[in-house]
Amino acid sequence: MKNLLLLFVLFLNINYSNAQIFDVESIKFSGDNDKRINLVIISEGYQTTEFTKFKTDATNFLDDLFMQSPFAEYTDYFNAYIIKVPSNESGSDHPGTATDVTEPASPITTADTYFNTSYDSFNIHRLLYTFNTSTINTVLANNFPEYDQAIVLVNSDEYGGSGGVHAFTSTGASANEIAIHELGHSLFDLKDEYYPGDALAAEAINMTQETNTSLVKWKNWIGINGIGIYQYLDGFGTPKPWYRPHETCKMRYLGFDFCAVCTEGIIEKIHDLVSPIDSYAPVSNTVENPSFPIDFSLSLIKPIPNTLETVWTLNASNFANNIDDVSLIETDLVEGTNTLTAVTNDASTLLKVDNHETIHVYTVTWTINYSSLGIEDINSLVNNLSITVYPNPTNDIVNFKFENSNNLDLKIDVVSIDGKTLKSLLVSNYETQQVDISNLSTGIYIANCYANNVLVASKRLVKQ
Ligand SMILES: [Zn+2]
Repeated sequence: MKNLLLLFVLFLNINYSNAQIFDVESIKFSGDNDKRINLVIISEGYQTTEFTKFKTDATNFLDDLFMQSPFAEYTDYFNAYIIKVPSNESGSDHPGTATDVTEPASPITTADTYFNTSYDSFNIHRLLYTFNTSTINTVLANNFPEYDQAIVLVNSDEYGGSGGVHAFTSTGASANEIAIHELGHSLFDLKDEYYPGDALAAEAINMTQETNTSLVKWKNWIGINGIGIYQYLDGFGTPKPWYRPHETCKMRYLGFDFCAVCTEGIIEKIHDLVSPIDSYAPVSNTVENPSFPIDFSLSLIKPIPNTLETVWTLNASNFANNIDDVSLIETDLVEGTNTLTAVTNDASTLLKVDNHETIHVYTVTWTINYSSLGIEDINSLVNNLSITVYPNPTNDIVNFKFENSNNLDLKIDVVSIDGKTLKSLLVSNYETQQVDISNLSTGIYIANCYANNVLVASKRLVKQ
């Protein structure tokens, strides 16, 4: 019967395209949707007459979110929208079926709501969820398919929420804190720093079984800002073979900040999703009758305070640093092909992860064909690169892994501190190459990485 019903619903969808369209409103706009992380807040348990309250509740949540680190610093990387989905009745179900409290712990209620959310899900009092996730997916597909993260905001004063594919939160006490904690799960792949149970324990940004301080994934933070290796205890106080980086992270207790390891994980995910290069100019392949000076510019999505660093290179020589615009005059150019490149990365001190200076590298390259008759054309190319060097330090084999969006090769020169090139290798896109450095003497080396003959990153390499 269920299947027949499903078929019938599909049939209706296909033949009458009865997609339900709801009012979608922007409540935070930083830039084009395809260049930002789009948070979408969906109303649940709000009647049409309560949409003003819904907008206020959603705005309050965003205000709280973007006051907290690292969302405060990276606020311009986000847009936010609300989808006004009406329910027949206000609130949510609270059946009083939890087994982790003595029921009824709060008044037993039912409400006829659009997504049929309920407290006491999985018999946990505070767990606010719906098994009707396909309806959420349908609403998103029909109203805001370019979303990155959906948050279902439930119009109920009872404390509650949950993570998973979509985040759920009520409007009750600590509700905004729950929603931010749940975003940590849903969008940033963070684990709970209280013991989540054997089924949910797994290696993650902020959870590990590694107890060696020089091998643990957050090794670069050990001893800084309270970061260490702390053992999880279950609800009965029994030690578990799992470890967290901090004792009072928001992934453990609401009302606290994200720990340094979680903060770093959030920023790295933001960089995975959004390039800091919002746009650049000129873009066009042919520049009509350019005259000198010719201006080149980047429009960057700047963290607050700005931690982006940009290096401009003209024909393999450093041309300018940490400015958004450069101008070329005729004497800057050589006859033939000239290459101007801007390489941008985030030098935030909130990032200490290995390779952080080379995992997220963003470049724009302009090719300027110049002759004594003038400029023939200017072409531009934007590239996102990721260069991973591991293990580092090492005493024998080091791996260089390279990915980029333009299918370029990467040339790597391993040079000594006094500038001698000791090894050179070419790494293709998506390739990992092993280099044996066991014959080098102990100490520090620099791996200079070139794409299209432009130095895109320099990586410190330590031989043990
Ligand atoms: Zn944490």
